[in-house]
Amino acid sequence: MIDTSVCVHCGLCLPACPTYQETGMESSSPRGRVFLLEAIAKGAEPSLESVRQIDECLDCRACEEVCPAHVPVGHRVDQFRRDHPQWIRQSGSGMREQRVVRWLTTPLGLHGFHWAVRMSQGPRLRRLSQRWLPLPLKSLSRGLPKTMPRQLGRARWRSKAVSEPGGNRLVVGLFLGCVMDAVFATTNHHTADLLSDVGCIVEVPMSQRCCGALSFHSGDIEQARRLAVANIKAFESVAEVVVNAAGCGAFFKEYAEIFAESSPWQAPAKALAARVVDVHQFLDDHRLPNLDQRPLPEARLTIHDACHLAHAQGIRQPLRDLLLRAGYQVIEMPEADRCCGSAGTYNLSHPAMAHRLKQKKAADVPQEVSGVATSNPGCMLQIQAGLQDAGRLQRVAHTVDWLWEAYHGNSR
Ligand code: SF4
Ligand code: SF4
Repeated sequence: MIDTSVCVHCGLCLPACPTYQETGMESSSPRGRVFLLEAIAKGAEPSLESVRQIDECLDCRACEEVCPAHVPVGHRVDQFRRDHPQWIRQSGSGMREQRVVRWLTTPLGLHGFHWAVRMSQGPRLRRLSQRWLPLPLKSLSRGLPKTMPRQLGRARWRSKAVSEPGGNRLVVGLFLGCVMDAVFATTNHHTADLLSDVGCIVEVPMSQRCCGALSFHSGDIEQARRLAVANIKAFESVAEVVVNAAGCGAFFKEYAEIFAESSPWQAPAKALAARVVDVHQFLDDHRLPNLDQRPLPEARLTIHDACHLAHAQGIRQPLRDLLLRAGYQVIEMPEADRCCGSAGTYNLSHPAMAHRLKQKKAADVPQEVSGVATSNPGCMLQIQAGLQDAGRLQRVAHTVDWLWEAYHGNSR
C-alpha cells in the first residue's frame, strides 16, 4: 500500500487542485482526500459522501507536482478505487465506467467503437445523436473530427526512410493508442511522417493493444496487466517506443508498478518503460528543422498542457519549442496545465464536474488565437466540445497536427 502518512497538512496543494478550485471544500482537496484515506486506512467506516469526495479526484497529479512531501495523492485514490469497488459502486459512478472500459479495450470493442464513431459522422446520424445521446456523450461527440481517416494500425507501416540506402537509422515503434487510433488516426499518420522527417524507420506492430491505462484507472488491474504483456511482446524489437497520447505515455512509464515484484513480467515491463519516449520530447531531441518563415500571420496558437504530460511526465517546454521552431506564435492561456475535466473516463463517471471544468478551460482560451495545441485525445475532444458549446470557432488539434501542417501542409 502506498504510504500517505507523510502529509504535513501544509495546504500547498490546495490552489493546484481543480476540484478544490471548483468547490472550495476541504474534503474535495488533496489534503482532504489524504485525511479521509488515512481515516479509512485506520478503520473508520466511510460515508457515501466521503467516498464520493475521494472518487471525484481527476488523477490529474497537479497536487503531486507541488507537494513538498511528495504525497502520491492520485496514485492513492486509484488504489482506493481498486481496493473498494463496492463503495465506488454504491457511491453511484464506477460500475458503468468499468463496463464501458472493459468493452472498449477488447479488439472487437475497439472496432465497434471506431465503426460507431465513423457512422456518427454522417449528417443524419449526427443530428440523431445530438437528440438521443446522454449529455456527457452528446457534448463530447461535438468535439469529434468531421471526417475520419483510415486507421494506421490496419497494416504494418514503414516510413519512406526504409527505402533510402545507407546509414544506421533508428528503428522506432509507434504506439497508436485506442482512442487516438479510433478517433484521431490522422494524428498517427502525421506522427509517422514527422518521425520519418527526422530520419527514423517507423514500425507499427499489429499486435499492439490499448496501453491499459483506462482499465487500470477504472479498477481492472488484471485487464491492465494482460494489455501490458501484449505490448511488451509487440514492441520488444524496437529501440524506442514513441507515444503521442499523454495518458498512454505516462502509463507506459509506470508499467513496472502494475506487476508484483515476484512477477516474471516486472523486469520486461521496466525495460519497456525505459524505452518509451513522448513524441514532443523525441522530435525536440532529434531536432525538427527550424522553419524560417511563419506559416500564416494568423497562425497564433495557445497550448493546453495535458495533465499526464505536464504533471506526470514533466514535459512542457518541448511543445512550445517545437511550435515556435515551426513558425507559430504561442500565446499562453492562464493555468495551461489545469485539467480540462476529460481525465480518461471521468466524463462518464462524473459528468457534472467534467462539464464545469470543460467550460472553465474553454473560457481560458484567448480570443485572439486561431487554435489550441494539446497532446491527449480526451483533451482534444473535451476542449473542442467546450469551445463549440460556447459558440467559438477555434480548432483544437494535437501539437503534432499543427507541426505537420507547418512542415507538410498547404498552410504556407
Ligand atoms: S498533500 Fe502535500 S502539499 Fe498537500 S497538504 Fe499534504 S504535504 Fe502539503
Ligand atoms: S490528483 Fe488532481 S484532482 Fe486529485 S487531489 Fe490531486 S490535484 Fe486534486
